[in-house]
Amino acid sequence: MRIGFIGLGNMGGPMALNVLKAGHTMVVSDLRQELAKPHMALGATWASTPKAVAAASEVILTSLPGPREVEAVALGPGGILEGAARGTVYVDLSTNSATLIRKIHGVCAQRGVDVLDAPVSGGVPGARSGKLAVLVGGDEALYHRLKPMLDAIGDKVTWVGGIGCGTVAKLVHNMVSACSRMAIAEGMTLGVKAGVAPEVLLDALAKSSFGQGRVLKDMIPNTVFPGAYDDVNFALKLLRKDVGLATELGREYHVPMLIAAIAEQQLEEALRRGWGDKDSMTFFRLQEERAGVELRAPKKGA
Ligand code: NAD
Repeated sequence: MRIGFIGLGNMGGPMALNVLKAGHTMVVSDLRQELAKPHMALGATWASTPKAVAAASEVILTSLPGPREVEAVALGPGGILEGAARGTVYVDLSTNSATLIRKIHGVCAQRGVDVLDAPVSGGVPGARSGKLAVLVGGDEALYHRLKPMLDAIGDKVTWVGGIGCGTVAKLVHNMVSACSRMAIAEGMTLGVKAGVAPEVLLDALAKSSFGQGRVLKDMIPNTVFPGAYDDVNFALKLLRKDVGLATELGREYHVPMLIAAIAEQQLEEALRRGWGDKDSMTFFRLQEERAGVELRAPKKGA
């Protein structure tokens, strides 16, 4: 395929090299021309504007810092849309705004240019080794057509739904990752201040239910998806007791725990609803109500 690649930074540089090595021809561009040296050494050619990249390509890939740069490169003066012929495909690998990529998809569709969003996860080491998760949103048939090329970028290329869905999944992942890491920071400072060695505590967390990934692998698919909150594995009142004991320990050792305080209040509300003897995952119902959406899906293996 004739591939255009715009944005040769920490992620884009190595991703573009992997696409080149898979045997595609390539036109590259970035604000900093020196970043293209390794690509040009492998036969890529340089273009000075996104418009010129698009005019020379069947598929254009971008890996840019964020929404501002993506909108300028895609729709701005001298941008991709000005140069792309009908039938060209634009794939954004950046972590972008879902609303913006849906807008770009709509504008491009009027000119016969199709768009996929395909944000990646796995960091610079993954970009170098070609071992990234690539979460693709957009037309499913188009995804299947481009998957062999995307396989050069990542070993876990997945279609997650219509346009923007890849970005939604990526943003959810990064938000959940940030919140979980902050809760772990609270827990580890509490544990160490209360007497456990950091490396021993980490090992204990890793060996326990949470560290074994049971929330994602078991509790959500088997309790939340079928709404089976009455099938009790671990009662909510017992989880409330344990979080209460932990925040009590935090007060004893003067460890501020902001996330734990919110968790305790949520469990208190769930108890007030009379859910103490339901499964501990029943607090999901509070968030389902607040958000006005239910997380029902087929149970794992059903
Ligand atoms: P980066 O800043 O290293 O690279 C961005 C590149 O885009 C730079 O080389 C910059 O010169 C270029 N650029 C900016 N504006 C441009 C324009 N108008 N025209 C042409 N080129 C332009 O950033 P990065 O770390 O490679 O991240 C790229 C994207 O990937 C971001 O959306 C980021 O959130 C996402 N991401 C990063 C990581 C990571 O670990 N770094 C992991 C997953 C996803």
